[in-house]
Amino acid sequence: MELWYTEKQTENVGITCKTSKTLHVEKTEFQHIAVIDTMQFGRMLVLDGMVQTTIEDEFVYHEMITHVPLNTHPSPKNVLVIGGGDGGAIREIVKHPSVERAVLVEIDRRVVEVSREYLPEISSGLDNPKVNVIYDDGIKHVKENPNTYDVIIVDSTEPVGPAVELFSGDFYRSVDNALKEDGLFVAQTESPFFNRDLIKHCYREISGVFPLTKLYLASVPTYPSGLWSFTMGSKKYDPESINSSSIPGYPTKYYTGELHKGAFILPRFVQDLLK
Ligand code: SAM
Repeated sequence: MELWYTEKQTENVGITCKTSKTLHVEKTEFQHIAVIDTMQFGRMLVLDGMVQTTIEDEFVYHEMITHVPLNTHPSPKNVLVIGGGDGGAIREIVKHPSVERAVLVEIDRRVVEVSREYLPEISSGLDNPKVNVIYDDGIKHVKENPNTYDVIIVDSTEPVGPAVELFSGDFYRSVDNALKEDGLFVAQTESPFFNRDLIKHCYREISGVFPLTKLYLASVPTYPSGLWSFTMGSKKYDPESINSSSIPGYPTKYYTGELHKGAFILPRFVQDLLK
């Protein structure tokens, strides 16, 4: 018998994958967690019915949410990831020679434990000696750690449950406060096709706090619409002014120096969202 998994991405559209096995299902204090084996994308982590990451396409999201901010900052030493319990962002961050400390603040301990068990390809970086994993609310952590980080990465779930506040103006002000004087941050800000109001809201709120706000795009097949946005707020450095030939030569599958710059070239309808 064939078994298929569908994520309803909006009221009217979904993504459906043929599965070979359901490996894990549980309900934690914060969310439902599932890990399934899919025929097309390999192992898939699903939270509250929404695809978070898959073995086949995770590299796009994890490389783009990390290398763009880390190569915009000339020497990122202290880096914070909020959310990101699968460990994919951390795996990329520890590739950077300048990084001395990478802190992961994940609200749900079980996401980390399940990822360690079922997604070792993604979670492997969590064992790096530079990494400190803290189980706490990222909102509380940024409030309690002023002037601490060079780069903050908000690798959150969609704006539901404990992640709702991660998309608010108050949170962006706390992030600004937790960054050093030349710090910068990036948040995943969903699909320009399906989440236009959210993108407008985030861009407006981030622009109200940071002197430099820029949105960039990447193509992630298992995320709603396949086109994903990230919004950067920066106190000093412009992500489009980097010297792409000076990017360190660690291995990547999606990210390149040219793509770093190209990701900020936006289609007209996305430019219009930011006006
Ligand atoms: N790449 C993913 C995506 O866009 O679909 C996000 C992956 S990661 C698994 C998201 C994590 O954010 C979840 O594990 C969730 O528990 C965590 N999270 C949600 N709200 C949080 C908060 N307020 N503080 C810390 N972690 C939070």
